[in-house]
Amino acid sequence: MSSANQHYRRDADALGQFGQFGGRFVAETLMPLILDLEQAYKQARSEPNFIAELDRFNAEFVGRPSPLYFAERLTEQYGGAKIFFKREELNHTGAHKINNCIGQVLLARRMGKSRIIAETGAGMHGVATATVCARFGLECVVYMGATDIDRQRDNVARMRLMGAKIVPVTSGKGTLKDAMNEALRDWVTNVDNTFYMIGTVAGPHPYPTLVRDFQSIIGRETHSQMLEREGRLPDSLVACIGGGSNAMGLFHHFLDYPEVQMVGVEAAGHGLDSGKHAASLKGGVPGVLHGNRTYLLQDDDGQIDDAHSVSAGLDYPGIGPEHAWLHKEGRVEYVAVTDRQALDAFHNCCRMEGIIPALETAHALAEVARRAPTLPSDHLMVVCLSGRGDKDMPTVLRLMEEQA
Ligand SMILES: *Cc1c(COP(=O)(O)O)cnc(C)c1O
Repeated sequence: MSSANQHYRRDADALGQFGQFGGRFVAETLMPLILDLEQAYKQARSEPNFIAELDRFNAEFVGRPSPLYFAERLTEQYGGAKIFFKREELNHTGAHKINNCIGQVLLARRMGKSRIIAETGAGMHGVATATVCARFGLECVVYMGATDIDRQRDNVARMRLMGAKIVPVTSGKGTLKDAMNEALRDWVTNVDNTFYMIGTVAGPHPYPTLVRDFQSIIGRETHSQMLEREGRLPDSLVACIGGGSNAMGLFHHFLDYPEVQMVGVEAAGHGLDSGKHAASLKGGVPGVLHGNRTYLLQDDDGQIDDAHSVSAGLDYPGIGPEHAWLHKEGRVEYVAVTDRQALDAFHNCCRMEGIIPALETAHALAEVARRAPTLPSDHLMVVCLSGRGDKDMPTVLRLMEEQA
C-alpha cells in the first residue's frame, strides 16, 4: 500500500506519462496541435484571469459548489460507515461532465478555435459539449456510434436543440470506441480551426492531465465541506469508472493524504468470467488505444474487445493512464461490480434517499453497499454521485418489464 512519504499528486512526466502509462501515440500531423494545446494549457492554468473566468462559470453556469449531502437513511440501513454523497448530479446538464467542458471551452476560445468536435457514448459528454458551444456560439460536431444514437434518443434530441450536429459512426460496433476514432480522424483533417474536446481522463497527453485538473474541483470542495461538517478529512472515497474522470476528480486532491483510502469501481457487466464486462484493470492488459498506453480489454491478438455494461457511460474498453499507474502503485484500490449489483443499488438509492442516480453511479453505490456495513460508525465515506438517472429511464423500465 501507499507509504506516507510518497508523492502521488503529480503531473505527467516530460513524455506525458504516469510511470509506464499515458504518452502521446498520435499521427505525425497531430503532433504540432498536441504541443500547441499543451503550451496553451500550461499558460492558462497559471493565469489569474483564466482561473477567475473558470470560477465564475463554475459558480453561475454550472451551479457550483455542489453540496456534500449526508445520506442518513442509507447510513442507518447499512449500519456501518457514515455515508456522504458528493452531488455532481445537481450540476447543470445533470452530471460531472460539464466541469471539464467549461474548462476546455474557455481554453479553446483562448486558442482562437471556432469549431469544436467531441465523441460521446451515453451522450452526457455530448450534451455538456453542445451546451458550452451554444453558450459561446461555437460550431459543434459530435461523433456518436449508431448503436448509441438508437439507445440514447433523449440526449441526441438535447444536443440537436442546442445546435450540435450529430455524426453517426457505423464502423466497428458503432459505440464509444469507434466514435473516438472518428473524432481523432476529423481532428487530423481540420487542424487549423478545430478543438477536440475529450470527455474523460484518456486520449493523448495533455488530455488526461487537463481533464483531471478541471474535474479536481470535486475533491477540493469535498475537502473543505467535510472539514466544515465533521472537522476532519474523509476516511474513504468511492467513485465509478468509465474512463475515470469523476473518480480522478474526487481522488486527485487527496492523493498525498495517505490516511484517505480510495476505491475505483469498474463495471463487471455479466461477471468478470463471462467475457461481457467493461473492467479494463480487473480484466484487461496494457496496450495502446486512442493515443495513450493503458490497460485495455483485448484478445490474444491484441484486437480491442467490445466492452459491456448495463450503463452506456461505463462501456469503454480502456481506462485513463493515471488510474493504470495508481493501480500499479497500489495507491488506489480497484474493484468491479456486476450489472445486477448495480441495479439493486440503483433501486435502493431511489427508495431510501429520494435520489435517482445514473446507472454508472449505481456501480459506486453497490460498492458502498458491500463495504459500509463492515466499517465502524465513525468512518466517513464519500461517494461521488456522478450523475442523475433521467437518461436511464428507458433502460430501467425495460429491465423492470423483463422481470415482471
Ligand atoms: C460519463 C459518465 C461516467 C463515466 O465517465 P468517467 O470519465 O469515468 O467519470 C460516470 N457517471 C456518469 C453520470 C457519466 O455521465
